[in-house]
Amino acid sequence: MFNFEKRKEYYQALLSKNSEYEGIFYVGVVTTGVFCRPTCPARKPKFENCEFFATAKEALLASFRPCERCRPLSHPNQISPIVQMLVQAIENNPEKRWKEQDFHELSIDISTARRQFKKRFGMTFVEYARCRRMGLALKHIKEGSAVIDAQLSAGYESSSGFRDAFSKIMGAAPTRAHHLVLKASWLDTKLGPMVAIADDHSLYLLEFVDRRGLENEVKKLRKKLSAAIIPGETNIIRNVESELAHYFDGKSMEFKTPIHLIGSTFQKNVWLELRKIPPGETRSYLDIAKSLKKPTACRAVARANGANQIAIIVPCHRVINSNGQLGGYAGGIVRKQWLIEHEKKFK
Ligand SMILES: [Zn+2]
Repeated sequence: MFNFEKRKEYYQALLSKNSEYEGIFYVGVVTTGVFCRPTCPARKPKFENCEFFATAKEALLASFRPCERCRPLSHPNQISPIVQMLVQAIENNPEKRWKEQDFHELSIDISTARRQFKKRFGMTFVEYARCRRMGLALKHIKEGSAVIDAQLSAGYESSSGFRDAFSKIMGAAPTRAHHLVLKASWLDTKLGPMVAIADDHSLYLLEFVDRRGLENEVKKLRKKLSAAIIPGETNIIRNVESELAHYFDGKSMEFKTPIHLIGSTFQKNVWLELRKIPPGETRSYLDIAKSLKKPTACRAVARANGANQIAIIVPCHRVINSNGQLGGYAGGIVRKQWLIEHEKKFK
């Protein structure tokens, strides 16, 4: 999220095709749905139709697809054919979930593909595919309620592909068989976009949009609760949004929004234990196992930690390895490090 000044500056760079801004920003064009590098030769959009992003990943998550003229996902003058082929393969079928077998079918060596992709974009191919998929599915959540209301009043049945992309992840439209209707919202944060799922009483899920495994989490949530998920907001989501804003600004590390934990008794105990770790401090998996009086359950604790569905509020990022190393984080190790450092400042 850039302020107005920055966006004006970037817009000027875009108009003048200033190559010094290569890699500094990407621009998404709302009217066409593509994103470009600053030096794109295509006709320039109006300022009000531009959204600026620091990384290609953010542009993908915001549902833009790479421009075919300036190829924002390729290094200028040096496009690896494998990478090109893979990007194209995703565009041909952006909702596909890639398996190893698919690489064989394209006669692509998986490890070469991995290396080249990572080198070019700073993210793996799978991550790229996921970002594109999530961006598409969550497009309408991001665009806010106007579109959504229209979709819903049209009976959720528009031919726009909205239902398809969205329901691939969030499930089918509500029917009588559903016990619960939850709302899903897009929340922009300093560390990237998050998705929040809640009803009027509690929060069920809060995750970074690019978190690995998010689709499975949502699926589990729907199944466990026989819930339907539709785009929208609730008081709970507005609460979380404001608490997150305070958290990221360092004004308050406290979260009072009611949360609903879904998991086994053991998992819930772990998550409740995590909530006792004060901001700015960390514990090891072993510490948590001991405080649950199950000192040998380190691995189970680590697994429960990884299965947390309410990022930041249930602070699984505060658990690290006994040797002081950070350990894993489904939202990415860079974020984990950032969160720990951020909290230390406000301890
Ligand atoms: Zn372009």
